[in-house]
Amino acid sequence: MLHEKQVKSILNKHKKRDSWFLDDYSVNPYEGCSCNCLYCYVRGSKYGENMDDGLAVKTNALEVLEKQLASRAKKNQYGFVAVGSATDAYIHHEEKYRLTEGMLKLLLKYRFPVFISTKCALITRDIELLKEIDRNAILPADLEDKLKKGLILSVSVSTLDEKVSHILEPGAASPLQRLALLKQLKQEGFLAGINAIPVLPFISDTEEELEKIIAAAKEYQADYVLTGGLTLFGSGTADSRTLFYKFLERYDASLLPKYQQLYGENFYPPFYYQDTLKERAKRLCRKHSVRNSILA
Ligand code: SF4
Repeated sequence: MLHEKQVKSILNKHKKRDSWFLDDYSVNPYEGCSCNCLYCYVRGSKYGENMDDGLAVKTNALEVLEKQLASRAKKNQYGFVAVGSATDAYIHHEEKYRLTEGMLKLLLKYRFPVFISTKCALITRDIELLKEIDRNAILPADLEDKLKKGLILSVSVSTLDEKVSHILEPGAASPLQRLALLKQLKQEGFLAGINAIPVLPFISDTEEELEKIIAAAKEYQADYVLTGGLTLFGSGTADSRTLFYKFLERYDASLLPKYQQLYGENFYPPFYYQDTLKERAKRLCRKHSVRNSILA
């Protein structure tokens, strides 16, 4: 079910810049997400609402965003704005409501640089608008020398296994369609890469599967691959841990005890796992000549 709601504030300023995506701000045109990924960190975490209640459209989003952008621009507080951090900016409701498009027009007007990570091909509708942002954005002073682009795009891929993706990311484009999208974005001249966050323990984090993702990144012309582990939140019926463990029971029940051992009571895998994943991804990126970060 789709709700409509009014918001008081929409532009979130981070305490510090995101080290992966380089955004200082985030903005979400919708609440909830029609990609419906079972592992979505919004389910059951402090970062978002329970997605079981359905989607909400923020009907006054543009009016509120304009005020907030105008105020930040006046104080010269430029920084990358992540459009869609707790939703995908291009969920299918965007075809009708066009809030993402409206936000991008405002970000262009006030010359803010933009980061978007998506699993949806609808982004191609806005290619000309995105090019304008890329050309006209004002970068934060400390990034000016390191980055010549005002727009960073990521295509998000957690697995290249079409069957697993179909179950885990039922409302998203297939992995192959996402790779084709990446190639198209690169051909349009954008800075674009793969956001392999999260990779899935024992499923897409194995040496073979991780290398497939990184090799595909190279093949489809990605500028970079970002890799990170899976978080699993909550114990309610619609929380990501519950949904993901149910998926494991159906997919391969032998993995369930391995996950229980890896996560215990935590919502993130242990540091040794994260460090090893980072090192492996770095090595495979070197092997395939792809950067493992946005900045060169
Ligand atoms: S695309 Fe992102 S925000 Fe949407 S359900 Fe999947 S993980 Fe959550």
